[in-house]
Amino acid sequence: MYEEKLISGKEVSAVLKVEISQKVAQLKARGVHPKLSVIIVGENPASLTYVKGKHKDCAECNIISDNIALPESTTQAELLEIIEKLNRDKSVHGILVQLPLPKHIEEYAVINAIDPAKDVDGFTAVNVGNMNIGKDCFAPCTPQGCMDMLDYAGVDICGKDVVVIGRSNIVGKPVSVLALQKSATVTICHSKTKNIAEKTRLADVVIVAVGREKFLTADMVKEGAVVIDVGINRNSMGKLCGDADFDGLIGKVSKITPVPGGVGLMTRVNLLKNTVKAAENAEK
Ligand code: NAP
Repeated sequence: MYEEKLISGKEVSAVLKVEISQKVAQLKARGVHPKLSVIIVGENPASLTYVKGKHKDCAECNIISDNIALPESTTQAELLEIIEKLNRDKSVHGILVQLPLPKHIEEYAVINAIDPAKDVDGFTAVNVGNMNIGKDCFAPCTPQGCMDMLDYAGVDICGKDVVVIGRSNIVGKPVSVLALQKSATVTICHSKTKNIAEKTRLADVVIVAVGREKFLTADMVKEGAVVIDVGINRNSMGKLCGDADFDGLIGKVSKITPVPGGVGLMTRVNLLKNTVKAAENAEK
């Protein structure tokens, strides 16, 4: 009944995967086979699942992916040496270091050791800086995925009021920058914001990235608002859910992304997009 209100990550990512596969075929015909190297340190179960998903996605689009699995005891120097080697390897177009890293390794130093031209996660200071000043960059995968969903659903945010809840470096901040670049009027809320509902009720689009089940409820949005739900949580029944009270909101919003089957899939597909872009750039 509410099907037309859903912005389906399954649908959007399927469309993008066709485009990506076509680009891979074109690159291959010119002698360039896009390749992603994924480094994982330790055996964090969630990280192992994410990495497995990344390899599966690559295979689906005919992107080569190799897995560099390192023991928890790996030192920062050893990890930096491996990254340096991958930076120099011309057959590798994208490098991804799965986060979080073990506590004895400084994430900032490791991420910034990646050649920005191979930084397909878009986390290096160079890419973040370029994104902020509107230069060509690898946009971080989850924020770009949110923008792709709005585009696909025909939601033009130019001149619209967009409220982002969450200000993390991987979601809230970058998605705010991307929305601003599309000429939205952006308000960023976080844990110290007073009366968030007062702000979200004025929003045309609410992007929620907090990490709390049912954080965004129907009384917090105006009739016809668009909701992009970035959250990935487990409810008391162990079921995957987002930050939005989907059942409460669906009758009131004009569009909403589901969880599962929403932004998460867009994050995955944007890694493929960035890897292909890195291969295209390397060819130039
Ligand atoms: P994070 O680093 O923990 O950031 C959460 C943000 O929410 C912070 O800015 C925090 O504010 C804010 N916040 C926490 N409690 C709040 C409250 N009561 N009121 C207002 N703001 C509050 O999390 P994240 O990495 O951004 O991820 C957010 C959610 O998205 C998580 O569920 C995560 O699993 C999910 N996620 C999904 C994807 C995907 O692909 N779909 C990708 C990444 C993350 P302060 O800054 O003031 O602490």
